[in-house]
Amino acid sequence: MDKQQEFVLRTLEERDIRFVRLWFTDVLGFLKSVAVAPAELEQAFDEGMGFDGSAIEGFARVYESDMIAKPDPGTFQILPWRAEAPGTARMFCDILMPDGSPSYADPRYVLKRALAKASDLGFTFYTHPEIEFYLLKEKPVDGTRPVPADSSGYFDHTPQNVGMDFRRQAITMLESMGISVEFSHHEGAPGQQEIDLRYADALSTADNIMTFRLVMKQVALEQGVQATFMPKPFSEYPGSGMHTHLSLFEGDRNAFYESGAEYQLSKVGRSFIAGLLKHAGEISAVTNQWVNSYKRIWGGANRTAGEGGESPSYICWGHNNRSALVRVPMYKPGKTGSTRVEMRSLDSGANPYLAYAVLLAAGLKGIEEDYELPAGADDDVWALSDAERRAMGIEPLPQNLGEAISAMERSELVAQTLGEHVFDFFLRNKKQEWEEYRSEVTAFELRKSLPVL
Ligand code: GLU
Ligand code: MG
Ligand code: MG
Repeated sequence: MDKQQEFVLRTLEERDIRFVRLWFTDVLGFLKSVAVAPAELEQAFDEGMGFDGSAIEGFARVYESDMIAKPDPGTFQILPWRAEAPGTARMFCDILMPDGSPSYADPRYVLKRALAKASDLGFTFYTHPEIEFYLLKEKPVDGTRPVPADSSGYFDHTPQNVGMDFRRQAITMLESMGISVEFSHHEGAPGQQEIDLRYADALSTADNIMTFRLVMKQVALEQGVQATFMPKPFSEYPGSGMHTHLSLFEGDRNAFYESGAEYQLSKVGRSFIAGLLKHAGEISAVTNQWVNSYKRIWGGANRTAGEGGESPSYICWGHNNRSALVRVPMYKPGKTGSTRVEMRSLDSGANPYLAYAVLLAAGLKGIEEDYELPAGADDDVWALSDAERRAMGIEPLPQNLGEAISAMERSELVAQTLGEHVFDFFLRNKKQEWEEYRSEVTAFELRKSLPVL
């Protein structure tokens, strides 16, 4: 038994932890959990815990449903809302096949494989997400409009602001689970919040995002409200993005940094951005995986510049340009390690493991194939005409999930990165969602057409 495993077993005893939840994530990004008694844990560390994977989205075909969850002791944390003895703790798991090999259906493994490829090229991948979400009075299940939990706006600081109490409690809880928060504020719309996590290696970030979503929902419940990560719950308000700052390191050197270069951006950084741009369309079904994701990207409310509303619609990059898909944020003088690129398409409803895997793969492809970075865009690209954008070589992101699926279907990069099983399952699942959506007569049509036709 190694030191981390020993630490876990000792802590269970000292803190009187009676339940240990083993966490993992299905292909669509939903958190799953099996509980084990502490007495079983030693064996779970050795051999893993068997479970039936056939009921988990995207995991197994029925004839090969036996799977094994093997806890990662480095992720051990006590759940703060279940801390009083007898308490509950959790660990993230790797999913294995019965023969002990990694499961090709495990999103965590998909990301680990992508990270291993980066490591072969000498890089480690760091990420820093800005997570936006809404607090609602409740979550109606009958398709009616939800009601935001507060009526504040961008950076508002008002007494009796539900969000403020909420953020304080939520951040305390995150920090007690070892997740550092860098920044938090009220976002542009009523009920909308943003919390930014400190940068970490991409696997820890993805684990942290899964924990984050649960903690937000938990704290919301305690305060009598509901948290939602749906990309665009309101037509007239901005959606919830999960902009992520990305950087590659070679050892402890930031590989995107070059002193004296434009924006302190190295050749490696430029090719990485070129990769993100070139493959943006085909990875879109992964970074923006829901029918609703495209309402965020194309809905009108995302262009209220300066009010925290902006989400990108066009494939281009820029320096301080919030209409661009990829932004190179201001360089902090004196901080040589701080060059990074902000990818702005990602939304809060994505599976973070799969999304980070495809973003990394796209960027690495740019480096390996030495892609040339097109000229940056300084203009507000929403304000340009289609003809002007075309003249500048600026293409739109997919207009809807259907277009995103078609682009993904043709993508060798996405197929290789997700692996055949996840790629096929994902496409099948998303096509079904798109079909269902297309065949539904919506409130919009009834409102628009029924009165006049
Ligand atoms: N809510 C915007 C989005 O959907 C982002 C606002 C911001 O720049 O933080 O991406
Ligand atoms: Mg941002
Ligand atoms: Mg924001």
